[in-house]
Amino acid sequence: MSLLRLGQRTLSIPKALPRPPLLAASSQATFSTRSYLLNSINNTAGSSTTTNNHHSVSKTSKGSLNTITDSAVSPSSRTRWLPRSSTSWRRGRHAAAAAAPPGQEDTVYSSFSSDQTSMPMNHETSRKMDDETLRAMFDNPVATADVSRAFAPPRSEDLAPTGLFLHPRLQSPEYMQTLTSQTLQHGIHLVDRICSVLPPSQFQPIHPESPFASYLDSPRSAYEHAKALRMVPKLLDRLSDVLCLVIDMAELVRNVHPDERWIAESDRAYERLGSFMNGLNTHQGLYQALKLCRDSPHDPPLTTAEKQLIRTFMTDFEKSGIHLPPDSRQRFVELSDEIQLLGRKFLHDVAAAAAPSDGDGDAESTGPGMLAGLTGSSSGSKAMIEIPDADAVLNGMGKPFIEALPKGSRLGGSRLSRFVSPNSWAAQMIIRHAPNERARRIVYEGCNRYSQERVDVLESLLEKRGELAGVLDQESWAASVLSDKMAKTPENVMGFLTSLAKHHLPKARADVGLLAALKRMESSSNRETSGINAWDRDYFSERYMAVIAPGSRVHPIHPFFSAGTVIQGLSRLFTNLYGIRFVPCALRPGEAWDKDVRKVQVVDETEGLIGSIYFDLFSRPGKSPNAAHYTVRCSRRIDDDDLPGDRLPPDWDWRAGMTGVENYEGVQVKGKPGRYQLPLVVLTTDFARPSFEDGPSLLAWQEVETLFHEMGHAIHSMLGRTEYHNVSGTRCATDFVELPSILMESFVSSPAVLPLFARHFVTDTPLPLEHFQSHLALQSSLSALELNSQITMAMLDQMYHSPLARDPKGIDTTAIYHNLISKMGVIPPVQGTAWQTQFGHLVGYGATYYSYTFDRAIAGKVWSTLFANDPLSRDGGEKLRQDVLGWGGGKDPWEMVANVVDNESIASGDAKAMQTVGSWLQ
Ligand SMILES: [Zn+2]
Repeated sequence: MSLLRLGQRTLSIPKALPRPPLLAASSQATFSTRSYLLNSINNTAGSSTTTNNHHSVSKTSKGSLNTITDSAVSPSSRTRWLPRSSTSWRRGRHAAAAAAPPGQEDTVYSSFSSDQTSMPMNHETSRKMDDETLRAMFDNPVATADVSRAFAPPRSEDLAPTGLFLHPRLQSPEYMQTLTSQTLQHGIHLVDRICSVLPPSQFQPIHPESPFASYLDSPRSAYEHAKALRMVPKLLDRLSDVLCLVIDMAELVRNVHPDERWIAESDRAYERLGSFMNGLNTHQGLYQALKLCRDSPHDPPLTTAEKQLIRTFMTDFEKSGIHLPPDSRQRFVELSDEIQLLGRKFLHDVAAAAAPSDGDGDAESTGPGMLAGLTGSSSGSKAMIEIPDADAVLNGMGKPFIEALPKGSRLGGSRLSRFVSPNSWAAQMIIRHAPNERARRIVYEGCNRYSQERVDVLESLLEKRGELAGVLDQESWAASVLSDKMAKTPENVMGFLTSLAKHHLPKARADVGLLAALKRMESSSNRETSGINAWDRDYFSERYMAVIAPGSRVHPIHPFFSAGTVIQGLSRLFTNLYGIRFVPCALRPGEAWDKDVRKVQVVDETEGLIGSIYFDLFSRPGKSPNAAHYTVRCSRRIDDDDLPGDRLPPDWDWRAGMTGVENYEGVQVKGKPGRYQLPLVVLTTDFARPSFEDGPSLLAWQEVETLFHEMGHAIHSMLGRTEYHNVSGTRCATDFVELPSILMESFVSSPAVLPLFARHFVTDTPLPLEHFQSHLALQSSLSALELNSQITMAMLDQMYHSPLARDPKGIDTTAIYHNLISKMGVIPPVQGTAWQTQFGHLVGYGATYYSYTFDRAIAGKVWSTLFANDPLSRDGGEKLRQDVLGWGGGKDPWEMVANVVDNESIASGDAKAMQTVGSWLQ
């Protein structure tokens, strides 16, 4: 892992191929608007279904089709929810008040303390109370500050303002620059400190007045030199930690903060530090010092962990062209900067295309609330989709829906037309529910229309990556990226994907055949239909679900999945598997970026506090619809840091940096010497906000899966407590990192796990098993079609990063995409569209998108080996923790997988091992 390993963000999987991001507008559409419109659609189009296995279709917030069935909950039931919930909430408050020890320094309010004996409360009682409070905490619509006061009587320190993540000074966006400058200064000291072990002829301090420059004139004694040399891996790891603490936080803030000023300052911080890091990745001094350390005798010798750390740093330095002549190294840095900028531009365009513009519909007839998220700007800056003769073409969508769309006459179109924003919620509704094929086609083509500007950005990005691979003397970007992944080579990846694709192609064709038969059946005319087109897929998938499983309409399951119930269930699941649980934790004013953020502390039954998770679950205007896991702070050992050796100025304020904001002294980890920094992660999703009017956030099935998935990453971060930052938690190979999270998707659909979390939000009754099972049966239909999409996307990613990107004539991403889906897909490509400009994962997962499919194969095997017979097995959980999660990236992933599935033959990770993994998915 190089110092360059920025932004520990793990995006969730996009669930479909040739279509726009779904319900991108959810953050703008209020629940009542949507339910009103959904009801209007439901009543007129009659096409309502519950969430189906077609994940992309079911990426919903509260305004999902499930919300239609939600109206089955009578108004009286709704009002009953509030007293029940607030009762339990008050009960939580009462108990918490009794439990809160006076004057306790940290922000733990209930049972937990690292010194449990000092607590005035019975452990079991407090555990139960936390369990109950968790549910209330996520289901109550009250602002976080109020929730926190419910958990404990407010103490003066709870009410005292603080900064983001309890940083006392990070209270204003302007401080980001102070923090960045301080971090850069510290970084420079660390670089000079590391490089000072080199002979004077090789040591060039960054500043001539560096405190380490004295070694140029008077070298250390032999003893001091040996000691300093031994410190090199540790110092390099600490350098990485110092920089990542700010840059990863900036990455989070610029993605989630509702305030533009914070976003702008975080962007600046990210760019300043990112550029510094890019320079360090080709820093000769650091590389030579590390090599000197590796090649020198040490007494006592280097530990296994130190050797592994040195190996990962060396690999990354060498991938950064450290061995190249200076002009090539300079080119490497330039290209890295350009790639970073192009990547950001590409992602910005993806997000902009998905974000709704300001409303501008017939406000006078529908009221302003009706329009949120539905319409686009009239300025024409974003190309709106014009639907001619809207009343006829959108027939079946309901009059209120149509009337909420801006009129053509107002936006320069024809008198009878209406406009819709590309990728808006309304656009999605049309693609999914418009009975008229023409309507679906117009909107599909409008959402995916070819944009020369966006195609150019993507193609420049791919070509720059190809050029950078050339600078490194690699055949392609993929070859360069894959060398330290499980798959090792592009040939291995394509071999894996091709055999999988061939194996599943007949099943995917059969799925499309089912949809085509339905289309013929429902066609009003007798003439031959055109087969399933890209704009038909979602519509007939919805119809198919409704037709084959009418029972699913009778038994909606989402009332059993309130956000609080699911989080509570996750905590219970982790208690069963690992002996850890979530403890609700109050937020101090200023600690989080939005009032809807919630925080839990993660507590191990023997080790005590092991980390914190901030949840930013609910929609708000402008928030990304993508679910994500962010690492803000990694675990690492800190008691042997030797901070005085950094020679920072005497007045240096240690608490002004990001290190040591919380748990400055670190905590002990069972079975390990020393004290450790606690990991801190953030999960973001785009669920509907709970409100007093509508009750808690009820999750569609796919949202439940998403929450489990993201929690898999969070737990990896919590349990992967390595001595070094650079290999902790999710800092592991990209094609390994999804394993823990995909495994969580097996837990979520296990009937044994279900009782831990599925309970009705009004009646508190458990979800009847037969309803769940018929739901799962529905889920598994059309799954080959979905897998085909995933495999095709992974192949596309490989082809875009192959030597094709180094063709002097330039890469033609549209031709490659259309050829690929003609050959390996099951639904023909649409001329004039360029779906690839919406494939945002190309930026963060360039050449490693196959990881999702690959890790799905491994996760299936881990599940059948450890948990299929007993999904709540503590033995299974302990084995997973011991063999996989606890290592983070500190061990070869093939060895970890071989151990956990008891199959030594794959430990070497060769081409044959790849085939074995492929066979697990067949
Ligand atoms: Zn993931």
